[in-house]
This record gives sequence, C-alpha cells and structure tokens, in this order.
Amino acid sequence: MIIVMLGPPGAGKGTQAELLAERLNLMHLSTGDVLREAVAQGTPLGRLAEPYMARGELVPDDVMIGLIKERLGKPDAARGVILDGFPRTLPQAQALNQALAQIGQKVDRVFYLRVPVDELLVRISGRYTCPRCGATYQRRQPRPGAEERCDACGAVLEQRPDDRIEVARRRLDVYFEQTAPLIEFYRSQGILVEINGMQSIEDVLKDELAALPAR
Ligand code: ADP
Ligand code: ADP
Ligand code: ZN
Repeated sequence: MIIVMLGPPGAGKGTQAELLAERLNLMHLSTGDVLREAVAQGTPLGRLAEPYMARGELVPDDVMIGLIKERLGKPDAARGVILDGFPRTLPQAQALNQALAQIGQKVDRVFYLRVPVDELLVRISGRYTCPRCGATYQRRQPRPGAEERCDACGAVLEQRPDDRIEVARRRLDVYFEQTAPLIEFYRSQGILVEINGMQSIEDVLKDELAALPAR
C-alpha cells in the first residue's frame, strides 16, 4: 500500500504519517527528515539541499526523484510506504507514478489535510522537535527564556531554522504555487480524500482510517 500525505507546511502530515505508519505497519518516509539528516551529517546531498531549505524553497526535482526511487527500492519499503513531503511538484508526482508502475504498484490513497493559513503559521511557530528521539510537540506559549524539554526522553527541544516566520511565509507561497496543483492531479485520478485538519490529532487519524482503500 502506498499512501501520500498532502498538505501545506504545518498541516500535520508528519504527525499523521507517524501514527498511520505505526497503526498499519508501513514505512514512514519523510523527505524533510531525510534531508535534515543529510544536512546534519554534511553529506553531498545535505550540502546541496541546505541553501534551498534555508530559503524555504524546494530542492530540485531531479535530486528528489533520484532520492525517492532509491528509497522505494529498499527492502523495508516492500510492505508499503507512507510518503510525507513527497511529491511536492507535478514532475515529482508524474515520476512517482512511473516509478511505481515499473514495480507493479500505484498510489492507493492521498490524504489532503486542509488547514487555514492563519492556523498553519501558529502551528509552525509552535513546532518544537526533539533532537534525540525525533518527537514533535506543539508549544503555543513557551515560557520566555525557559528551555522546553521532551516529555519522552528529557532532551532540550529545538525549533527548525526554517520555521522562523519569514521563511515559513515563503514556504507557504511555494506550497500554493508548486504543490497545491497536486490536489487536482490526484482528485482527477479518484484517489484523493480531503480531511479536515482543524480537528484533534486523534479525530484526524480516525477520518483517515475510515477512508483507507479496501485491502
Ligand atoms: P507537517 O509535517 O505537515 O509540517 P507536523 O506534523 O510537523 O506538520 O505538525 C506541525 C505542528 O502542529 C507540530 O508542532 C505538531 O505537533 C502540531 N500539530 C499536528 N497536528 C495537529 C492538530 N491536529 N492540532 C494541533 N496541532 C497539531
Ligand atoms: P513541512 O513539514 O513543513 O511540510 P518538510 O519537513 O516536509 O516541511 O520539508 C522541509 C524542506 O525540505 C522543504 O521546505 C524543502 O526545502 C525540502 N523538501 C522536502 N521535501 C521536498 C520535496 N519533495 N521536494 C523538494 N524539496 C523538498
Ligand atoms: Zn525526546
């Protein structure tokens, strides 16, 4: 089973992908996480991607398509994948369909998480992640000057550099220009399911589980 999480930055794609992957025993593949890891390790991919990410722009299609093909070919992708953050452009979506067709697969479901822009900016500004265990939190009123710590492992939480408001605004513009056309692309294939992302995390998950394709 191949599931694509579609939606603007801050909509909850990563949060839902993680929960769905656990529930359905699928691999969670977040291209943002792969790129951040590459940046942290200073690999060639990381060095290439970093300036684009810092500006809130997209890493070039050929790089992303190469990356996703490599990951989809790995054995742990065989039982199914939840794609979080890919595809983000029409060429990426077309390349994905072609790559899947070659291995006798297809995108089975696309969950489009709908959230209004003002809430996205609030969520992005309140996003804190744990550098040790990867958990993501929403801290809307951080105590000034106080460190925010991970509930799970106690590490000091971090904010993504591209979650600063100016970069976040640019990412939203890029989303509307380059990624939003995918909504119609997948709707026309009959596999898009719109989910009201303005609900609790649990209720969003419930709606997704109710809209899975029959297996
Ligand atoms: P995306 O991967 O789409 O950018 P995330 O899953 O990282 O989004 O979520 C963005 C922020 O919003 C995180 O801080 C996350 O904890 C929080 N969040 C996720 N889902 C919800 C929700 N349903 N309601 C409120 N906050 C949420
Ligand atoms: P968000 O969770 O806010 O939607 P991501 O973590 O998915 O953001 O992505 C962070 C950044 O990584 C993007 O702003 C972009 O620079 C880069 N990136 C991630 N996925 C892709 C992709 N499929 N194509 C191009 N760039 C990407
Ligand atoms: Zn932690």
